[in-house]
Amino acid sequence: MRLVLLGPPGAGKGTQAALLSEKLGVPHISTGDLFRANIGEGTPLGVEAKSYIDAGKLVPTDVTARMVKSRLAENDAQEGFLLDGFPRTVEQAEILADHLTEQSLELDGVLNFRIAEDVVVERMLARGRADDNEETIRTRLSVYHDETAPLIEHYGDRIIPIDAEGEVDEINARAMSALGK
Ligand code: ADP
Repeated sequence: MRLVLLGPPGAGKGTQAALLSEKLGVPHISTGDLFRANIGEGTPLGVEAKSYIDAGKLVPTDVTARMVKSRLAENDAQEGFLLDGFPRTVEQAEILADHLTEQSLELDGVLNFRIAEDVVVERMLARGRADDNEETIRTRLSVYHDETAPLIEHYGDRIIPIDAEGEVDEINARAMSALGK
């Protein structure tokens, strides 16, 4: 299955993606995780991405798209993938669509994890990642509203809404059943 996961920062996409990845047998490809791995290893891409991530801003699309395309070219992603964190803008969605079309591939769906804003702020403050301070969280939520939320309309009837409030297992069960599994 080729799926995109959407939702505000802190919606628990990463947690759900890890579970879905295991159950569906396709890799979880998280742009946030890829960036953090590059930052940890001190690669040029990591050095470039770090200042944007620390400020809660989007990393430039050319850098991000190059990283995603090269990850999608790896062996384990040939039969499917769960894309978490990409696309984050309509421009990125168009890049992904072109990339898949070039290979005569299509997305099977877009899971949209829905959650109230006060719950996501609470979750992010609780997990305490380096970019999870109040100022950065505010910036990321505003970037989400301005740049990422329009993807819901962009994807239209390919959107599969998932209620992302509640227990991890409960949310996973909702996602599996929405996928007909
Ligand atoms: P969250 O879902 O909590 O926002 P992520 O791990 O998905 O966290 O992303 C962390 C940061 O990585 C983002 O705030 C942004 O700076 C950068 N990032 C991730 N995905 C993208 C993307 N598709 N385009 C640009 N920047 C991105």
